[in-house]
Amino acid sequence: MDTIRSGSSAGAEGQAAHSRGTGQPDITERLRSAGLRPTRQRLSLGALLFDGNDRHVTAEMLHEQAVRESVPVSLATVYNTLHQFTQAGLLREVAVDGAKSYFDTNTSDHHHFYVEDEQRLVDIEDGGLVVSGLPRAPEGMEITHIDVVVRVRRSKR
Ligand SMILES: [Zn+2]
Repeated sequence: MDTIRSGSSAGAEGQAAHSRGTGQPDITERLRSAGLRPTRQRLSLGALLFDGNDRHVTAEMLHEQAVRESVPVSLATVYNTLHQFTQAGLLREVAVDGAKSYFDTNTSDHHHFYVEDEQRLVDIEDGGLVVSGLPRAPEGMEITHIDVVVRVRRSKR
C-alpha cells in the first residue's frame, strides 16, 4: 500500500486556494490547524467528507461521490488525500480487511460493526463493547488505541 506520509509534499497536486469562493472557511481552518495547506483539492474533498455527519468512507466511495458532484479528482488523489488527512489526525483509518480501509470522520475512540453483505461500517455506541484484559505493551511502548470490528450480516430466517 503506498502512502504519502509527508503533508508538505502536496505542492505538486494543486495550487493553494487563494481565491475566495472556494467556500468552507471552517474547512480551510480545519486543514490549517492540522498543519495542511488548504489546496483546492483538499478543500473540495474536505467539504465532501466533513459535512457535519460522521462518515465512514473508502477511497472508492469518496471518489464516486466526487464524480457525482462534479469534483474533478482522480482516485489516486482521493487516496493520497485520505492518507494525508489521516496522518494529520483529521480522519481515523479503520482496516476492515487487508485490501480495504475505511476512513472515519469521527476520530474519537470507538468500535465498529462491519455489515458484511453491505460492506458498511456502523459505529458501536458508547459502552456497547468493553475491552478488558489487555496485554501489557512491549517494553518501551504504549498502546495508542484499540480497534474492534464486529462482523455482522443479515440473519436468515
Ligand atoms: Zn466510526
